[in-house]
Amino acid sequence: MQADNRQKILIADDERFNLNILVDILKSDYKISVAKNGKQALDRAMSLNPPDLILLDIQMPEMDGYEVCKSLKEDERTKDIPVIFITAMKEEAYEAKGFDIGAVDYITKPFSAPIVRARARAQLKMKWQADMLRQMACIDVLTEIPNRQKFEEIFDREWKRAVREKIPLSVLLVDIDFFKQYNDSYGHGRGDKCLKEVAQALANSIHRPADFVARYGGEEFIAVLPETDMPGAGAVAEIMRSNVELLQIPHARSVSLDYVTVSIGVASVAPGGGFSDAALITVVATADEMLYKAKAGGRNQVQCR
Ligand code: GH3
Ligand code: MG
Ligand code: MG
Repeated sequence: MQADNRQKILIADDERFNLNILVDILKSDYKISVAKNGKQALDRAMSLNPPDLILLDIQMPEMDGYEVCKSLKEDERTKDIPVIFITAMKEEAYEAKGFDIGAVDYITKPFSAPIVRARARAQLKMKWQADMLRQMACIDVLTEIPNRQKFEEIFDREWKRAVREKIPLSVLLVDIDFFKQYNDSYGHGRGDKCLKEVAQALANSIHRPADFVARYGGEEFIAVLPETDMPGAGAVAEIMRSNVELLQIPHARSVSLDYVTVSIGVASVAPGGGFSDAALITVVATADEMLYKAKAGGRNQVQCR
């Protein structure tokens, strides 16, 4: 069976009749979910599988459409989902208020099916383009793994979670050994290819959903392993080191082995063990110190603290 990658529309209206009409208009082109009130609309929008567009009735009991839209726009997780108001309130002031709150369009009832379809289509096209841009901005073009900017975002989030949930966290810094000599011997093109293969080997070495690895810059990579203490992080680092060695990329001028190898520095913070803003900076610095130790100790090895 083919994956259903149609875009998803959430329709919120307290009147079943209106809801059904909109569903009928849009269901052949999009995945549809519905909400009968404002609270339900918010819950659906914040779910793990959020919609790409929300059609929102204004007049609903308890929490009206304006309030729903305001909450959506204030939340990092939902602020980029476009909202179209669909309402019987025709006055200009209501429409202006809708746009002020952050809606992208305003359709008044009774509406015509082709117009609803066309306006939904226009917003969904922009949403798809914006998603693509956001995604591309996080990926390193050469290695096709996440870039440093994405790492900073993930690390910040995971650090806060570790503090909140009192769980350990580890950081790994990975650096290719004698990579300058590799470029000098085999040329920059082969150097680039090698970087890509090493990046993929590192990415294939992590398996937990929260584990994350990125290109940190040049021939350096960085990983964050949430909920992982030092022995655990050391084991993952050893798998990474070994997986790169197993690629058996010839490197005649490497002193550590005849193949391309990496050195890895590991830093772990235990719960209660000094989670502070200062520690946030020093955990990467400590990983860097450990990396230096691995280099000094002969390379192709892991050092932990
Ligand atoms: P060490 O074992 O101490 O890490 O030595 P090294 O030669 O790997 O370290 P150094 O930092 O001196 O050299 C890093 C090299 O990585 C130099 C630079 O040309 C190369 N490099 C950085 N980014 C890229 C890239 O995107 N493509 C290629 N081909 N080479 C790169
Ligand atoms: Mg380096
Ligand atoms: Mg290096």
